[in-house]
Amino acid sequence: MSRKRQPIEPHRIKSVEPIKQLSAHEREQRIVEARYNIFRIDAQDIFIDLLTDSGTTAMSARQWAALMIGDESYAGAASFRNFERTVKDIFRKRFVIPCHQGRSAENLMFSTVVEKGKYVLNNTHFDTTRGNTLHKGGIPIDLPCPESTSDEMEPFKGNMDTEHLEAFINEHGAESIAMVVMTVTNNSVGGLPVSMANIHATSEICRRHNILFFFDGARYAENCYFIKRDEPGYGNKSVSDIANEMFECCDGVMMSAKKDGMANIGGFIALNDEDLYQRVTELMIIIEGFPTYGGLAGRDLEVLAVGLREAQDFDYLDFRINQVAYLGEQIKQAGMPIVEPTGGHAVFVDAGKFLPHVPPNEFPGQSVAVEFYREGGIRMSEIGSLMFGGKDPNTGEELIAVRELVRLAMPRRVYTNSHYDYVADVAARIADRRDSLTGYKVVHQTAILRHFTCDLEPLAHKKVHS
Ligand SMILES: *Cc1c(COP(=O)(O)O)cnc(C)c1O
Repeated sequence: MSRKRQPIEPHRIKSVEPIKQLSAHEREQRIVEARYNIFRIDAQDIFIDLLTDSGTTAMSARQWAALMIGDESYAGAASFRNFERTVKDIFRKRFVIPCHQGRSAENLMFSTVVEKGKYVLNNTHFDTTRGNTLHKGGIPIDLPCPESTSDEMEPFKGNMDTEHLEAFINEHGAESIAMVVMTVTNNSVGGLPVSMANIHATSEICRRHNILFFFDGARYAENCYFIKRDEPGYGNKSVSDIANEMFECCDGVMMSAKKDGMANIGGFIALNDEDLYQRVTELMIIIEGFPTYGGLAGRDLEVLAVGLREAQDFDYLDFRINQVAYLGEQIKQAGMPIVEPTGGHAVFVDAGKFLPHVPPNEFPGQSVAVEFYREGGIRMSEIGSLMFGGKDPNTGEELIAVRELVRLAMPRRVYTNSHYDYVADVAARIADRRDSLTGYKVVHQTAILRHFTCDLEPLAHKKVHS
């Protein structure tokens, strides 16, 4: 029998951090004390934490070394110049504005360009992008391609629906649109990539209608890897050449560097328009910091200058994307249906399919997430009706999500294949007793973003007929 080769880490481990598994009894206590909300469990009581890939990266030896040479001068620090040079080199823009994370970049940009009642069009808004658009009175519109929710094994399900984009512009007029944003990879549809052809097509439409075109580039390097692997004509190009081609198409980039910046904190805006640069930096001095540090320490900028380049390393990307696929395959074999193909930063379990006896308003995703903690001390987040459902603030109608998912987000360079084998073993044990899993009800909640703070209670078990 042939053995499937595991992806091999292109790094060795120089520094370790112990993790500890609580007993089954202690885990049961913790989950009850947390009122079945995993955000409330302390990190030290988690064995494997797959809550997010944001800011959870393991830094490299070079990054730790760079940290020590951080220049903490208030203005014009050498570390800023180093960071600026790196960002200009990759993102091809004249001006670089450091920010402490992605959402502060969004706040600065949207405060400057979004007026009340104007649209922001996006392949799919990430939740903070949506929040910041709404906060400035803008109207966020998602235009994902139709394949984004299909079961087909299409490679670029993160694409923008360009026909819909053009139709929207023709219907509402270019002047009603504050900006078009391309999110790479498309986080909200499963970290799935956008093709270069789709980027060119979107850019062409924006140029023709004279509409500002920006990237939300949190996971741009992972996106470049998929283009290299799966898009005809790109197989022989380097990741950095692909990145350059991608960013030549746009007017600017907002980035949360907590993802493909390979850092624990940081972000930036890069753009070409001098007038826009002046307006953004005027505001940032009031709310974020002087334009050469933007709410970060010099050492953070130095770390980012190294991390942004490391994220383009082919061996690293090849390992990462294959490790995501590897975990996906293991989970599937353990008997849990997943969203396919797997994307760049997470595996999504389809809890709606896995627990057909638990209806969406009883949160099958939460049931699976709680069980992963109970069974194995593993933490992950529900991405379903607990996150997106609840009462519509305008109509009072009870909303449910399109799909009931659970996200196993994978921190960069943190866990080895054997950690993920353990996760799959836990999945198999849960799958063996799936009929015993019950739904949950919300007993206390806030009006917005309830999933962070709500209290839950398990419902009585229903007999499953098969
Ligand atoms: C994480 C993320 C953001 C927000 O960035 P923060 O650093 O968490 O503030 C914006 N867009 C996308 C696509 C993201 O993944």
